[in-house]
Formats: sequence, C-alpha cells, structure tokens
Amino acid sequence: MQALTNRGKEVERKPMSFWESLYLPGIFKGMAITFSHLFKKKPTIHYPEQKREFSPVFRGLHVLNRDEEGRENCTACGLCAVACPAEAITMEGAERMPGEENLYREEKYAAKYEINMLRCIFCGLCEEACPKDAIYLSETFAPSDFNRKGFIYKKEDLLIPDKNTDPEGYAKARGSKK
Ligand code: SF4
Ligand code: SF4
Repeated sequence: MQALTNRGKEVERKPMSFWESLYLPGIFKGMAITFSHLFKKKPTIHYPEQKREFSPVFRGLHVLNRDEEGRENCTACGLCAVACPAEAITMEGAERMPGEENLYREEKYAAKYEINMLRCIFCGLCEEACPKDAIYLSETFAPSDFNRKGFIYKKEDLLIPDKNTDPEGYAKARGSKK
C-alpha cells in the first residue's frame, strides 16, 4: 500500500526482555515523572476562585450598548446580522413612538434581538460592522448550560445596564472597554 507521507515508521514488535516483563521498572519510571511534577510550577489555577487575566484582544460575550443618556443605541439596521458569518444574529425592528425618546436614541430600534451563542464563533465582525457603536464583545464569556435554549441570548440578556440607574452593573459590563 502506498504511504501518504514519508514520515511513517514501521512498528518494532520484538519480544519483551526479562525486566520489561516485570513491568516494575516501567511503573517506577512513570511514578518518577509524576513525582517530578510536584515541584514544578502548576499550569492550572483554582477556577472560579482564581481567574486569569484576559488578553487585551479577548472577544467574549456580546453587550448591546447605550448612549450617555441611557438610551439604546441599536437602530435594528441589520448590518451586524449581515456581517455575521455564522448567521447567529436575528432581530426585529420597531418604530419609536412619541414619548419613547428617552428609551431609544433613533426613530427605529430593535424590539427583538437574539444571538445564538452556540453558533457564534466570537469573530467580532458584528462589532466592526455596527455603525452606531451599539454592540461590542465584552471580557466575559457565556456560562455553561445543560439546555440549548439557554444559549439563545435575548435582548434583555445582552443589553448593558443603564449607567445612570445601575453604575456598578454598567462598569462591570464595560470592563476595560473605552
Ligand atoms: S462575533 Fe462573529 S459569529 Fe458571533 S455574532 Fe458576532 S459576527 Fe456573528
Ligand atoms: S447592533 Fe449595530 S449593526 Fe446591529 S442592528 Fe444594531 S445598530 Fe445595526
């Protein structure tokens, strides 16, 4: 049979020596390797008590942004959904009614906005496509869940807290994003 690469090696199946058939030298060798790791720096941490610092370019869970007055930035233009290679974003737009100027920045807003986190590949293209600074990828990630539906994040899950009414929640959601 023709080999796919020239890196293949033929397996040697020579009979075991007396020492090898005792298995003990192999066991002691394995234990010595295990023991030597006791004195090495641990690559793991005690998560969730300890957390690693994220890279400055880390892209995590999405946040729908508000403006300085706490109004929703998103105008449901759909550019993020078009840019999304995973087709993870769906939305429904609605017209702003008189008296809702304090809730939505522009005449149109997203009445429904959903992201399927199981489809999302956290590429950040939605953030780049948005002309309204309405969506960005934060420094947190989607927690695990047993239910697929738990990964469909709705607008209520994504919308950043209003900094005028919940400054702590707002600062937490912003992280180090400027
Ligand atoms: S990060 Fe990428 S894959 Fe995820 S919703 Fe945005 S554009 Fe789609
Ligand atoms: S998040 Fe941005 S790109 Fe997406 S619909 Fe809203 S305004 Fe448009």
